[in-house]
Amino acid sequence: MLQADTIAAIATAAGAAGLAVVRVSGRDALSIADAIFHGAGRLVDAPSHTLHHGWAMWPNDGAAADRRGPVSAAPPSGSRAAVRGNLRLDEVVAAVFRAPRSYTREDVVEISCHGGERPAPRVLEALLAAGARMARPGEFTLRAFLSGRMDLTQAEAVADLIHAASDRAHELALSQLAGTVSRRLHTLSERIADSLAEVEARVDFAEDIGGIEVPSQVVNAIEGVYGELADLLAGSAYARAVREGILISLVGRPNVGKSSLFNALLGEERAIVTAIPGTTRDRVSEAIEVEGVRVTLSDTAGLRETAEPIEAVGIAIAEEAIERSGIVLWVVDGSIPLAAEDGAIAVRLAGRPVLIALNKSDRPARVRPDQVTALLEAGTHRVVAVSATRGDGLGLLRGELAIMLGAGGDERAAGAAIGNLRHVEALSRAGGALERAALAAREARPGEIVALELREGLHAIGEVTGKTISGDLLDRIFSRFCIGK
Ligand code: GDP
Repeated sequence: MLQADTIAAIATAAGAAGLAVVRVSGRDALSIADAIFHGAGRLVDAPSHTLHHGWAMWPNDGAAADRRGPVSAAPPSGSRAAVRGNLRLDEVVAAVFRAPRSYTREDVVEISCHGGERPAPRVLEALLAAGARMARPGEFTLRAFLSGRMDLTQAEAVADLIHAASDRAHELALSQLAGTVSRRLHTLSERIADSLAEVEARVDFAEDIGGIEVPSQVVNAIEGVYGELADLLAGSAYARAVREGILISLVGRPNVGKSSLFNALLGEERAIVTAIPGTTRDRVSEAIEVEGVRVTLSDTAGLRETAEPIEAVGIAIAEEAIERSGIVLWVVDGSIPLAAEDGAIAVRLAGRPVLIALNKSDRPARVRPDQVTALLEAGTHRVVAVSATRGDGLGLLRGELAIMLGAGGDERAAGAAIGNLRHVEALSRAGGALERAALAAREARPGEIVALELREGLHAIGEVTGKTISGDLLDRIFSRFCIGK
């Protein structure tokens, strides 16, 4: 799909740097770039995938007037170009990519100029004066999607790649960009479409539309696709943790060593460690990496009933943090007997994934692991003995966290892990529709119902790949991109 106008934006981050890149894409990309580029030859004559050294200059009135008329062609007021023509902007290299062999599949020119505050913005200003329009956020990638160069999962992977904050998030985004998710979903869609064709053919020929017999191999095929969708979604909790990071809150009675453990895990002094109970009133958060997953550790105020107002605020924050936590790290002082407060904390942890750190293992043990787990509701809860001050057991603790994060499972190997909440939501819907389709077929319900559910499943998968997506949703997805992407 060819867009009418030619867009331009700075593709690199602002600030002092060796280089910055200004990107132009669209039907007039080459001639607009020529209006500001002065080198050995004209870019409109240049073959694709070639580099051209030269100078970027303010466009002369004629070039600009050709496209935008004399008024808009004038340099911004106060610009020296208004006084002196042919103002040099920067020494640059222009890279020419001709349609369709470019990022957007349109003609593209990437102008590499010097980094810093002025060069790239001035080059961009000149391109706008020469007739380009300022690109909207994500518009280059949107064009790549609209032209069919990539599907929506790949376009979204570009944003994930740019924002990847851990090695695993980087790998996941790359795999999605390479089309791993697209290919799996494409195959699943084709299989649903085949089943749909089978069902529709029978509906068309059925004399009595009250019910049709769907052959068992078609039902099996539908169930097969459902099973694969379920597999794909099975790794989504881990993939989401990888993509978005996960919050781990340290909770426990005052003085059990939460701040000490927080610091030990961080490997540096961040929270104020003190021997007076109840002094960690604010949450202190820091990001660390556990098995390639970005984890935000959050040290919370001691959870206990209190009458003191400031501390009560801290406790409210702690309770809210428990709500939002992917994992709660419950720190218990193993060197003194459990108290009634521990029971109260255990109640608040109900339903949360909890890992127990039995701290102060350097002192004689006064608490057995099973005494702590007995306070929690049924389920397996791992207990790791640690000494925050001596550093004992920290490796084991990290290992247990990694297991809880799902690292090391099959999902790690599966490149097609679904980490994007939008995808998870749509694919769950697709799975639900297929499950209902299979059930309706098995119960020999009217063929239309089976067909309807299959179509809904196809539609939901299409929302992920971008095949069946509304303009509104596209706008929402691409507005999260930054300008220049
Ligand atoms: P918080 O109130 O739970 O954050 O506890 P802090 O981290 O402030 O620690 C309270 C006290 O326990 C401090 O005096 C720490 O030095 C001490 N402490 C923390 N961890 C250990 C440990 O593993 N062994 C020993 N012996 N003392 C510890």
